[in-house]
Amino acid sequence: MTTIIDGKAVAKKVNAATQTAVAELEQQGIKPGIAVIIVGEDPASQIYVRNKNRKATKLGMHSVVRQLPVTTTQAELLSIIAEYNSDASIHGILVQSPLPKQINEPLITMAIDPKKDVDGFHPTNMGKLITNFPGNYPVANTPRGIMTLLAEYGIDPAGKQAVVIGRSTIVGKPMAALLTNANATVTVAHSRTKDLKALARTADILVVATGIAHLITGADIKPGATVIDVGMDRDADGKLVGDVDFDSAQGVAGFITPVPGGVGPMTIATLMQTTVELAKWSDLSE
Ligand code: NAP
Repeated sequence: MTTIIDGKAVAKKVNAATQTAVAELEQQGIKPGIAVIIVGEDPASQIYVRNKNRKATKLGMHSVVRQLPVTTTQAELLSIIAEYNSDASIHGILVQSPLPKQINEPLITMAIDPKKDVDGFHPTNMGKLITNFPGNYPVANTPRGIMTLLAEYGIDPAGKQAVVIGRSTIVGKPMAALLTNANATVTVAHSRTKDLKALARTADILVVATGIAHLITGADIKPGATVIDVGMDRDADGKLVGDVDFDSAQGVAGFITPVPGGVGPMTIATLMQTTVELAKWSDLSE
C-alpha cells in the first residue's frame, strides 16, 4: 500500500505555528518583514510572488513586493538590495528567479546580507549547511520543507540509501546536504549519470528534481521506497504533473508526494517559517 504524503495538511500545520510565532514576536515589538523583488513580467514568477505576498500578509507579517522593469540594470538591482539590507523592518529578502540576461544572478545572491537571505542560497549559508555548522542560519526552503514532510511521516533518513536526482543550488545540492546531515547515504544524480533508472531502484528515499515530466516510473522505484517528487512540469495537455509518473508509482512506493499538493505547498510554508526565524534571530544577535 502506498501512503500519499499530504503536503497541504503539513503546510497548514507549519503555517499555524508560524502564525503563533508572529503573534509572539509582535508582543516583543517585532513584526517579521519580507521583501520580494521581481524583475520583469514572467507569468509564473508573477503568480509565485503574488502567492508569497498573500500568504505573508495572511500570517500577519509585513510584506513588500518590489516590481522592477525587465530593463533593470545590475547596478540598480544591487542598490535596491542594499536598501533592504539596511532596512530594519525587513528580515528576509528574496529575489525571484529567473532574472533577465543583463543581471548576474550569483552576484545578486552574494549581495544579500546572509542574515536576511531567506532563500538560504548565499554561499555563507550554503557553506554552513555543507559543514553542518552549529547555530542558526537559513536553509533553502524546498529541501527544508521536504525534511519536514519526512519527519511528519516518521521517515528517518539515518542509515538509508538516498538518491537525489538533480544537482541545482535551489533543490538538489541542499537536499543532498540535508540528507547527509541526517545520516543517510546519499548519491546525487544528474543529466550525465549513467543508468539512472538502475540507480533510482537502489533508493530507500528517492528525491526527483529535474523538471522532466514523468522521468521516473513505477518500474524505477524500489518497492516500499519513499518518493519525493519536486517537479512542476506540464504534460502534453498543459496539466501540472511531476517528474514521477504518479499512477505507475502508486502501489510500488511506500510513500509518495503528489503533484500538486506535495512539495509545492511546503516550499511557501517553509519560506514563511524562515522569515519569522530570521526576525527572531535578528533580535538575538543585535
Ligand atoms: P534545474 O536547475 O533545471 O536543475 C535540474 C537538474 O536536473 C539538473 O541538475 C540536471 O542535470 C538534472 N537533469 C535534467 N535532466 C535530467 C535527466 N534526463 N536525467 C537526470 N537528471 C536530469 O531545476 P530545479 O530548479 O532544481 O528544479 C527542478 C524541478 O523542480 C522543476 O520542475 C522545478 O519547477 C521544480 N521545483 C519545484 C519547487 C516546488 O516548490 N515544488 C521548487 C523548486 C523547483 P545537469 O546538472 O547535468 O544539467
